[in-house]
Amino acid sequence: MSKQTDDFFKNVVSHAKEYGFVFPSSEIYDGLSAVYDYGQLGSELKNNLKQYWWKAMVQLHENIVGIDAAIFMHPTTWKASGHVDGFNDPMIDNKDSKKRYRADQLIEDKIARYETDGKTEKAQQLQADLNAALNDDDLPRLKTIIEEHNIVCPVSGTKNWTEVRQFNLMFSTQMGASAEGADTVYLRPETAQGIFVNFLNVQKSGRMKVPFGIAQIGKAFRNEVIARQFIMRMREFEQMELQFFVRPGTELEWYSKWKETRLKWHLALGGDTAKYRYHDHVKLAHYANAAVDIEYEFPFGFKEVEGIHSRTDFDLIQHQKFSGKKLQYFDPEINQNYVPYVIETSIGLDRLFLTVLCNSFEEQDLSTEDKKDSRSVLHFHPALAPVKAAILPLTKKDGLPDKAREILNRLKIDYNVQYDEKDSIGKRYRRQDAIGTPFCITVDYQSLEDDTVTLRHRDSMEQERVAAVDLEKIISDLVGWKNLLAVL
Ligand code: ATP
Repeated sequence: MSKQTDDFFKNVVSHAKEYGFVFPSSEIYDGLSAVYDYGQLGSELKNNLKQYWWKAMVQLHENIVGIDAAIFMHPTTWKASGHVDGFNDPMIDNKDSKKRYRADQLIEDKIARYETDGKTEKAQQLQADLNAALNDDDLPRLKTIIEEHNIVCPVSGTKNWTEVRQFNLMFSTQMGASAEGADTVYLRPETAQGIFVNFLNVQKSGRMKVPFGIAQIGKAFRNEVIARQFIMRMREFEQMELQFFVRPGTELEWYSKWKETRLKWHLALGGDTAKYRYHDHVKLAHYANAAVDIEYEFPFGFKEVEGIHSRTDFDLIQHQKFSGKKLQYFDPEINQNYVPYVIETSIGLDRLFLTVLCNSFEEQDLSTEDKKDSRSVLHFHPALAPVKAAILPLTKKDGLPDKAREILNRLKIDYNVQYDEKDSIGKRYRRQDAIGTPFCITVDYQSLEDDTVTLRHRDSMEQERVAAVDLEKIISDLVGWKNLLAVL
């Protein structure tokens, strides 16, 4: 990361804390590694992001419905899905610093360094070696690669490594009152399995016809070996997933459609299009016949925000096998029973949140020849903004607060709005800019005479005079979901 992007990222993180978007979890006890709390504005933004996804996926598609499955599931679910045996990361410890690393990530960091140093051939060879070792689950080979390439611990600077071991990422706990009778259950590491086990429940009760989809938003938990980059890699996070069930043989067509649809959804948020790209998987998971990530260029490089997988019939077949229950669909159009194939789109809500913060945050220099000036702005899409409008009486006296509160009371029924009468109007505008409020409504002496107010726009800082009675309509036109959804 260059100094400039490093500073930018640090500023985003501290801005998020200072203005009540994201706090380290249980901070008074020095925090809990890779766990974060969303503050008063962060939870509003998160809710708006969820709504944007839910509306785009469920509301706009006649053949997609949403569910809310429990976090705890029957333990056999995770046997069937392969998570008990295979949801592992290779880890290695440095004996001097006592720090733990993911062996593959240490090697990837080395590849990135070779690339930065212009040693392209060396980087490619190392990438090929890494892929081969991962494909073969060859842990001793990973250790040898680390030694051969002189990879040192970033903390101790030494090569005093332990063996590479597999580390299962699932958190487990006990369900049941007594220790003897208790069952080991897992905190789900993905929301998808809650959809697969409910496939027939939803299909039958909703009379769904293939192709159809089941969507879900919910918490997932992974005991990540190392967690870094703020809310990028967390141990408790939220996913928004769609499993779309299709007739076997049509899956690659649907995969292409969803790949396109999902990128369009990201771009509709108005970020810089050059910051998004597809990353096709060369090495496919055993259950997939096509897979791509949508990556966003964070200040620390391009990273996955969403994964789109053609998962074949792997999951439903596994659940059939382990449960002994048929998970088939009778397709009246071709008069056949089959286990549907599945296209999955899976996006991390917290990573999306971080893309929106990075895309929106700007420190603007507004200095003129005579005066130094600057402001921090969050250029959120108005539909996503935590606060839609701030109502500001010019002064605290002469009936201006009453008039302002009248407007507040009307608008607050439909929108999250704020009232603020403290400090100069300029300072109040800056405070709203810093939390991304798209509009400020200023009530002044003229308002008492002709019932008009000043509407100030966050991005352009332009002001216009509008009739107070038109405010509901104006705000609804500017912040309404249709501005986002109509382009999808
Ligand atoms: P990565 O390779 O970055 O670990 P993944 O390929 O394991 O991610 P998936 O299992 O495909 O991720 O999960 C789908 C989405 O869930 C990811 O695209 C990401 O946005 C999100 N996600 C996965 N793990 C985490 C995590 N630890 N913290 C926050 N979000 C996560």
